[in-house]
Amino acid sequence: MFNFFSQSVKDSQEVLDKGPAKTKQSLWKQLGKAVAGKAYVDEAVLDSLEELLISADVGLETTVKIIERIEQRVARDKYLNTSELNGLVQEEIMALLEEQETSNTAFSTSASPYVILVVGVNGVGKTTTIGKLAAHYQQTGKRIILGAADTFRAAAVTQLQQWGQRVGATVVSKGMHTDPAAVAYDAVKAGIQAQADVVIIDTAGRLHTKVNLMQELYKIRRTISKCLPGAPHEVLLVLDGSTGQNAFVQAKAFTNATNVTALAITKLDGTAKGGVVIGISDQFQVPVRYIGVGERVEDLQVFDRQAFVASLLGNA
Ligand code: GDP
Ligand code: MG
Repeated sequence: MFNFFSQSVKDSQEVLDKGPAKTKQSLWKQLGKAVAGKAYVDEAVLDSLEELLISADVGLETTVKIIERIEQRVARDKYLNTSELNGLVQEEIMALLEEQETSNTAFSTSASPYVILVVGVNGVGKTTTIGKLAAHYQQTGKRIILGAADTFRAAAVTQLQQWGQRVGATVVSKGMHTDPAAVAYDAVKAGIQAQADVVIIDTAGRLHTKVNLMQELYKIRRTISKCLPGAPHEVLLVLDGSTGQNAFVQAKAFTNATNVTALAITKLDGTAKGGVVIGISDQFQVPVRYIGVGERVEDLQVFDRQAFVASLLGNA
């Protein structure tokens, strides 16, 4: 395992704070409004809290769990002060997320090259996330190969090539409308030959039908594993955090169809819906590994639950 995000905790916290800022503001403000003029946490306060968690896209299932936990606290302590509510919500959300046994450690094998297959629907930020990741790896002296296996969409190959140029990574491509599995195979082969540390493979987010997409991903995986047994070592599903419930639907579809090992949730900079990260962390047994907080190369963070929840509630 190597730690490629060499930023200090403080730096990463700063970027994180810029990320879900709108969420932070609205959750914090609304919580304030809900408790205004009330000394103790009562039914009405809990109703407001429930509403605002749902409006932040935490999702119904996870919201209900959080509210139930707080109700239990209120039942124990009838005169729970509203000023303690924010801290309590943070505590309960953290406790809930900590119950997930998922480890958030990248590079859990010493495989070389380490092959990452990146999947997700169109426009969620796959190629951008690959570019950001490649930049980070490159900065730590890792040798990177990118595979342009999104051969379906017009600008996809060019976009990855531009990222490759920008970060100094080799891009393996066979052009548009070529067989994505063959591109993936060649990328892994090139990775082995060049003794690369990491091979990252981009894929299409849309084919003619959803079934096609899942079948194609299956074929890509099988082909990769023929080239390098045990690969891909990571299947990274990218979700657009600003799409709220859609992100849940996509997480479900992809985790059902393929063995997703990690999640990247993007676009948390421009959304009031950062709660989606909490809901998804709670409901899927797949760790959130990265969050995207902007379009720049440095706008990718290793996900830190504690910092994220604190930031979301305005306690960072
Ligand atoms: P793909 O179709 O999944 O490969 O998505 P792209 O990587 O092409 O990204 C689609 C758009 O989302 C581009 O305009 C990106 O710049 C933008 N994007 C990606 N990640 C983020 C992010 O974290 N924040 C913001 N604001 N935009 C992002
Ligand atoms: Mg793309």
